[in-house]
Amino acid sequence: MTTPTSYLLQMPTTPPKPTPGCAVCASLDRQRTQARASGDYSRESDCNVRMRAHTCRETPTPY
Ligand SMILES: [Zn+2]
Repeated sequence: MTTPTSYLLQMPTTPPKPTPGCAVCASLDRQRTQARASGDYSRESDCNVRMRAHTCRETPTPY
């Protein structure tokens, strides 16, 4: 039986910051906060990965 210890070392230690005005970042930040509050760290890091991976777009300005 082996203990999984190395995978944590591969995780970036600095969580991404949500970009102001980006709806995706705001949504992921909300999910991340909820996940952290409920102790769901795998979901929290999943939100971090998704926030880092997506392309931020500014909210379209209504004409
Ligand atoms: Zn974003």
